[in-house]
Amino acid sequence: MKLSEGVYFIEGKKKGNFPYCNSLIAGNAIIDPNCGVEILNGFIGEIETAVLSHNHPDHSALAWYFNRLNREVYAPHPFTNVRELAERFARGIEERWIEFATEFVGFRDFKAQLYDSSSEFDWNGHEIEMIETSGHTDDMHLFLIDGKILYSADIDLTDFGPWYGNPESDPYEFKRSIESLFNYDFEVIVPSHSRPVSGREEIESRLNSYIEHFDRREEIIRELYERGLSIDEIVELSPIYRKKRPSLKEIMDYFERNMIEKHLEKIRKHH
Ligand SMILES: [Zn+2]
Repeated sequence: MKLSEGVYFIEGKKKGNFPYCNSLIAGNAIIDPNCGVEILNGFIGEIETAVLSHNHPDHSALAWYFNRLNREVYAPHPFTNVRELAERFARGIEERWIEFATEFVGFRDFKAQLYDSSSEFDWNGHEIEMIETSGHTDDMHLFLIDGKILYSADIDLTDFGPWYGNPESDPYEFKRSIESLFNYDFEVIVPSHSRPVSGREEIESRLNSYIEHFDRREEIIRELYERGLSIDEIVELSPIYRKKRPSLKEIMDYFERNMIEKHLEKIRKHH
């Protein structure tokens, strides 16, 4: 789908749902190329550069493919092999996570050059501004193309809401990062796991309902905490995921526990 001259939204396999993502093409570059290899092959001849918003496997799984084709890959973090990523994202359940990332998501090790928000990219003349965020991962970058199209990565505007299940994640920082987007007046927002949204009114309303998840979850967790439930019991009730695929339960429990713990840290401080 064409968004403007040289800028295209690529809906990922499974509508861009996990373990895939939606991609954005700007000039000769693609942001977060894990839209599915069959889809990618349809236009890869025109792409010289792959850029990752962050190194989560559902975004970076096809980066190795660009290595093989001798194209450039840029990432905001040097951790690009599965063992390093496991130690970073899934401390304590590394082996299980490696199996999940390689078999379920299809991740393979890759090599990348580093970028940060001051890097200068020229993708066939498009003006690119990188916006660094925290809270989802420490280093997720959003891309503002020509001042009007924002690739918002895992500020993904899904009904599920924001995800902050890694040790380095933080719902309160994530919330602040999302709120800071109101300072930019882009006309289209392209999330990694849902359809693009255009028009300021619609964009702001979608961002606001997305942000509400933080307080809603905190409220539910506070209630369970005040009723005297232990963290194990809260994880078992699953106030955030609600439903877990049996084959992924161990890994989802781990992520949900991290998310609940971050809320509990704040709740306990106020008691
Ligand atoms: Zn992510």
